[in-house]
Amino acid sequence: MRTLVAGGLLVGAEGSQRADLWVEDGRIAAIGSGLPWEADRTIDAAGRYVLPGGVDVHTHMDLAVVGNVGPGGEEAGGPDDLGAESTADDFASGTRAAAFGGTTTIVDFAEQAPGQSLADGVRAWHEKLARAAAPIDVGFHLIVRDLGERPRDELAALVEEGVTSVKLFMAYKGDLMVDDATLWRAMELAAELDATVMVHAENGDVIQGLVERARSEGKAEPRYHAATRPCGTEAEAVGRAIALAELAGCALYVVHVSCAESVERIEAARRAGQAVFGETCTHYLLTDASDLERPGFEGAKFVFTPPPRSAADRERLWRALRADALSAVSSDHSPASFEARLRLGRDDFAKIPNGTGGVEERLTLIHHHGVNGGRISLNRMVELLATNPAKLLGLHPRKGTLAVGADADLVVFDPEREVTLTAAGLHSRSDHTIYEGEVVRGAPESVMVRGELVVDRGELVAPAGWGEFVPRQRARPWWNTAVAR
Ligand code: MN
Ligand code: MN
Repeated sequence: MRTLVAGGLLVGAEGSQRADLWVEDGRIAAIGSGLPWEADRTIDAAGRYVLPGGVDVHTHMDLAVVGNVGPGGEEAGGPDDLGAESTADDFASGTRAAAFGGTTTIVDFAEQAPGQSLADGVRAWHEKLARAAAPIDVGFHLIVRDLGERPRDELAALVEEGVTSVKLFMAYKGDLMVDDATLWRAMELAAELDATVMVHAENGDVIQGLVERARSEGKAEPRYHAATRPCGTEAEAVGRAIALAELAGCALYVVHVSCAESVERIEAARRAGQAVFGETCTHYLLTDASDLERPGFEGAKFVFTPPPRSAADRERLWRALRADALSAVSSDHSPASFEARLRLGRDDFAKIPNGTGGVEERLTLIHHHGVNGGRISLNRMVELLATNPAKLLGLHPRKGTLAVGADADLVVFDPEREVTLTAAGLHSRSDHTIYEGEVVRGAPESVMVRGELVVDRGELVAPAGWGEFVPRQRARPWWNTAVAR
């Protein structure tokens, strides 16, 4: 199949040009005007942008969800009933939602279950993906609980298979949280193997103390989710992770940075030339702590971790995205249903399953509030949503860029089309979106993965199971280009 994408404005991280794009054998084969060959199919992109497909490197499809004390938090009252709850989306619905939103690759977090080997953690995610018939490409990171007995060999095997990043949690005490010895050892191994360490950076010990105290004082409403996880608990952990990564010599990727104090630490480390990269998420750019106070338990929809912060923090994040103190915007897609929030957390904020959706909303919202809102350029948007995440997590130049030889992962984007975001209109299985009723201007019209149309004007047209596992390269080749801006 040879496809001509004709007459669009090709938008990349470095610049934009009006040109045609020739797609053959799943790849971009030529870029130019008046390309002389006969196409099997022509996509008219006049008046449209042609963007590299979105790369969302922070999703949790089909994961057990946790309250903010964690399922193992007996000391805090024991929300044992959380064990049975999963995120509203599985790999099938989550990857379909991503496709409709113009995201053509996700990197999802496989998780090492307690007592499980690293390899078995990843195998479980391969099985989930195999059952899903995903329309888009999928890579995996691995969440590490403990390094086991032969960590070097196990990690080397994963890196060989294309799972080149591991994530460790500095919070969720009694569940996912690791101690500094484990974090540092993982960083040393990552340095040796050219893998990237990702951290959920919050001080789990301090947060546990604050949560227990609030509960003992009878504080129950959703707003205490933010009150018990102040910015300092995040910034301390960000600073500690940066210091340990420097000691170990590994690349560090800090997920879901939410506040100014954390940005300052990342910015300082980057200025000093350290390979530290910060990501924020759509919801930190568009909500704040006052949303937790919405009446009728609506505030519970804004229980995600870290919590929504102040309006000033939010503006600091936008500024950090412009100045390259932060390098990427992901969704952290992990929607827990409103029904489950009510059932489990009506009387205790710490039992509200945390997380929100956004894999489908990410591109339209960042385009609307970022580009239409005058906060970032269109090129910077592409860089934050596709090019940088692809580079930092070992997918570039195959993904995240419009270049000859790259996979033909494309979004034909209509910058003028107005869309009203509603849970009913989106494709996640979640029973709500925190953006319900919001009108955005600019939306994907058709989406292509490796040269195959997967979404065409609101219809899923992907061949069954078109999406593939995508192995990723090691981190180190991209350190310099991303650091030396
Ligand atoms: Mn997290
Ligand atoms: Mn997450």
